[in-house]
Amino acid sequence: KPAPKTIIVSNRLPVKVVKSAEGLDFQATEGGLATGLGSIYKSGNNLWIGWPGATLTTKEEKKNTTEILESQSMVPVFLTDEDLELYYEGFSNETLWPNFHYFNQYSIFDENTWESYKKVNQKFADAVLAECNAQDTIWIHDYQLLLVPELLRKKKPDLKIGFFLHIPFPSYESFRLLPRRRELLLGMLGADFLGFHTYDDTRHFLSSVNRLAGIGNDHGIINHNNRQIMADALPMGIDYDKYHQTAAHPETLQKEVEYRTAINTPQMMLSIDRLDYSKGIPQRVRAFEKFLEKYPQYQRKVSLVMIVVPSRYQVDKYKELKEEIDLLVGRINGQFGRLSWTPVHYFYRSYPLHALSAFYRMAHVGFVSPLRDGMNLVAKEFIASKLEKKGVLILSEMAGASKELSDAILVNPNNQTQMIEAIKDALEMSEEEQIRRMTVMQDTLQRYNIYHWVDLFMNRLDHVKKRQLAQK
Ligand code: UDP
Repeated sequence: KPAPKTIIVSNRLPVKVVKSAEGLDFQATEGGLATGLGSIYKSGNNLWIGWPGATLTTKEEKKNTTEILESQSMVPVFLTDEDLELYYEGFSNETLWPNFHYFNQYSIFDENTWESYKKVNQKFADAVLAECNAQDTIWIHDYQLLLVPELLRKKKPDLKIGFFLHIPFPSYESFRLLPRRRELLLGMLGADFLGFHTYDDTRHFLSSVNRLAGIGNDHGIINHNNRQIMADALPMGIDYDKYHQTAAHPETLQKEVEYRTAINTPQMMLSIDRLDYSKGIPQRVRAFEKFLEKYPQYQRKVSLVMIVVPSRYQVDKYKELKEEIDLLVGRINGQFGRLSWTPVHYFYRSYPLHALSAFYRMAHVGFVSPLRDGMNLVAKEFIASKLEKKGVLILSEMAGASKELSDAILVNPNNQTQMIEAIKDALEMSEEEQIRRMTVMQDTLQRYNIYHWVDLFMNRLDHVKKRQLAQK
């Protein structure tokens, strides 16, 4: 009998296959999740199953990819262009994403994309079933794979299955609008343990399970088909030491000097987001514009560096958002700018780690104001990069991170007046106060880091499974 193993399942593998004239190239993508789970999937006979980031069509390409990934403990799920259009861009990003972030006016309901979502979830489940044994542990990630837990449960009733949702779980009043709401919940209930970023997400999930599937719970313990399932809040952390150490790296310091010379204002504010309507980017730019109008003494004294990472540009709503941001930034720089001062330094691109770290280091204010965000790791990375504990975080209370970072200046991103005053308060905060707040937030993030999160998740999952066995 083979030793029990752990299988991680997510839409994307922590690697990107790039097709070029010379053949296939494999680039590691070092996101927070990949770092945290690295110690798991790389050890023993554990695995990570997911899409390798390119559509591979020929037998040869698929075979090569499978072999190379296998040697790195990964198993590819191959998706077609149609899968990507309907399952990924369609149901995941145009139905679930807006609904879960309370953008229901953007949510599209389409039976074709739902059929594709079911089909691709089955593809992922089949890939797992081909690799797993009854005593293995499976950890499924995020909103693209909500049906996979139940698809596995049906075939292997005793599997130990965990699920983590990286985006918000919406209130019943939003979730109930989805045509396939009940199927989605029952899909998730195939798991033994379900983790969410915040207590509110957990509460919302339990409430929907209760009201839409008629299944009650006792303090987060759900009894379903004679199986005890647990749902709980488990906020994801970052690799704190990595960000702390990167901030002291010579390459970071060199970049910082370069950026400081170029920007050349006494104070600098920073925002970093993927292009997404949930991030509240136009609201933030407008608040900065009104701030410069209301407090003209700050003109030429402060710049906003705004990094927007290209994302989902194929989706119409994202294209429209990009155009809106371009216009706003043009307007504010046109109106307030001087030869010697650019109010908003706007970059529509992504940056490597040391460059990001240099921006985090030099920013007096981290300005993180999403309209809705599951967690927001940028807020946490900014805190971890402040080696001298100086700097102020303005943070939206609609970001999951606000639950742990109550020493930030918390704002409602819809309240422009409050945002304007928050900018002023942040720029004027005494050093003593900055250090006091930063110390508290750094202690929290250092303690509840990504490794701690992974351990906690695994412990919870074990715990639930043991309780189930004890009940039998
Ligand atoms: N990030 C990056 N390159 C960039 C800008 C950002 O790798 O040029 C990273 C950033 O460090 C963070 C992540 O992208 O870890 C964004 O995560 P967050 O939770 O803030 O937002 P999401 O994009 O997941 O909604």
